[in-house]
Amino acid sequence: MAKKDLSFILNHLGEDRENYFNAIAPPVIQTSNFCFKTVADMRSALGQEFEVPFYTRGNNPTVTILRKKIAALEGAEDALIFASGCAAISAAVMSIVKSGDHAICVKNAYGWTNSLLTQYLNPYGVTSTIVDGENTASFEKAIRPTTKLIYLESPNSFTLEVQDIEAIARLARKHGITTIIDNSYSTPINQSPLELGIDMVVHSASKYLGGHSDIIAGVICSSRERVNKLFSEEFMTLGGIISPQDAWLMLRGLRTLDLRVKRSSESAAKIVEFLEKHPKIEEVIYPFSSTYKHRDIARKQMKDGGGLLSVKIRAKEAPQLESFCNSLSRFLMACSWGGYESLIFPVVALPSTNKTDKNSLPWNLVRLYIGLEDADVLIEDLRVALEKV
Ligand SMILES: *Cc1c(COP(=O)(O)O)cnc(C)c1O
Repeated sequence: MAKKDLSFILNHLGEDRENYFNAIAPPVIQTSNFCFKTVADMRSALGQEFEVPFYTRGNNPTVTILRKKIAALEGAEDALIFASGCAAISAAVMSIVKSGDHAICVKNAYGWTNSLLTQYLNPYGVTSTIVDGENTASFEKAIRPTTKLIYLESPNSFTLEVQDIEAIARLARKHGITTIIDNSYSTPINQSPLELGIDMVVHSASKYLGGHSDIIAGVICSSRERVNKLFSEEFMTLGGIISPQDAWLMLRGLRTLDLRVKRSSESAAKIVEFLEKHPKIEEVIYPFSSTYKHRDIARKQMKDGGGLLSVKIRAKEAPQLESFCNSLSRFLMACSWGGYESLIFPVVALPSTNKTDKNSLPWNLVRLYIGLEDADVLIEDLRVALEKV
């Protein structure tokens, strides 16, 4: 496929400025309704609610600009924008699995994705198997005659495990199974799953796509056929739409997507280098580091490493680790990521963390998100705080 014209997509695509006074920035069309002069016009709009503004739950012109840009970024025929990443993920999953169907999902996927597949959908007759995503053969073993969906998240956002996207997409196609991937970590800047044979891409746009820690949003990108079907079923029925105001904020955030993701990835690489040499660090987990377990797969399918990394701290007890976290001043302690500000999220903050439970995340794992600050300032903050361990 031809190289994406990112500059055109981010600056101009979908923006028909002559329709709104040649304003450079698009308007927020803050309306629920659109009106018609004749019955014939109304009837015709009602027949094509996805394409023509009729009611904002279906189509809103501010959201449509966003929809076109997001689809183009992922190299998809079309896209849908949702009120949250979870709204997008649940609509995408429910568009594929019905009563009696089976789904395969990678382990350590986003928590609410995991509970959707392993708990929430069970009473509706959907079963699922969680597999080790790093081992492609484990997907093949889990396939049953009723398997309709393989759900990937590569890399996932805490333990940063990658899956061989192309190999798994090929396996799924062979068995007539639909594939969905959560591409929030890499964004369309660093990874293009549709080119690797994946059927549907979902994102939490609350992360890099929004990019300023001020909106909750989600997207689905896929073929026109799948998106049309999803529109008239899950999208219109469940109604988890984005507001025009939040769509506008996401459009604004997208202007700098390329710059932000590059800066975040470059600074993360510098910080990884610093941490890997530090005596208080037991292990650094980062897909583009030289010590990463599956760096060949990561480098094959990702353009850059992104801004999330996890470290295991050489601490004997939780209080030592907590004093490291508490003494950071340039990293804010918070969940989420993908904004301008650097963040830290320690596993010990999870109420259920158990030092002896083999299934839970390692207790000494700390996730860092590298934002847009000067990398040297962040390194100095880490250096001082690590002395507290
Ligand atoms: C945050 C996140 C989600 C959920 O998205 P929301 O916008 O919070 O609903 C899903 N997947 C990943 C990888 C995430 O980081």
